[in-house]
Amino acid sequence: MGEYDGPGACGADRPFKVSAVGRHQKVPLNKSTDLNCPMVAAVDDWLERTVQPVAQAMFGQPVIGVEHMGTYSCRNIAGHRQMSEHAYMNAIDVSGFRLADGRTVRVKSGWRSADASEANFLRAVGGAACEQFTTVLGPGADAAHQDHLHFDLARHSKGRRVCRGGDEPVPDGGRMFSFFKDRSVETTGSIGTRDGDAGGGALEDGWYAEDEAAE
Ligand SMILES: [Zn+2]
Repeated sequence: MGEYDGPGACGADRPFKVSAVGRHQKVPLNKSTDLNCPMVAAVDDWLERTVQPVAQAMFGQPVIGVEHMGTYSCRNIAGHRQMSEHAYMNAIDVSGFRLADGRTVRVKSGWRSADASEANFLRAVGGAACEQFTTVLGPGADAAHQDHLHFDLARHSKGRRVCRGGDEPVPDGGRMFSFFKDRSVETTGSIGTRDGDAGGGALEDGWYAEDEAAE
């Protein structure tokens, strides 16, 4: 594995090349990627303790694949001077879940889908993720998170967790999946950063359009 030669302060000491996630039952990622060690553990926990139980409860089948849009990018948070957690391989943007029957539930199409099971599933796995991660941003957070769930392990001031938009209410008064009932994590309307809170509310993402345009 060795050290990652990121420019400047970017990268992680001993990143893992990750091609599958989960603890006992590994499921493949759509593309392998680099994550730091704590993130590998957090993603594995999240998949096993949150995603798979919710998938079984809601769809009667397991998730057999996870789609992501990226983990590593040496950049600032869009429009801010703070480095993104993506610069430290301390974040992942999850965009979809492949079920055993071949169906894929995607954040982009499913979050506000008329199919309540997809909308609820995504809220359940997004909202509950604040047990494993210190930042969760979903489509309810801002325009930059309409097609993915951002998870990271940022060290927020005072040990806070920032959980924003991962459990936006279901449209049209739909019923929220009861998985949320016993959540005991703090949620907040503002976004913190590694070195304290950004005055303007620093947004993690919003870089894909640029990246894709450049390719
Ligand atoms: Zn992100």
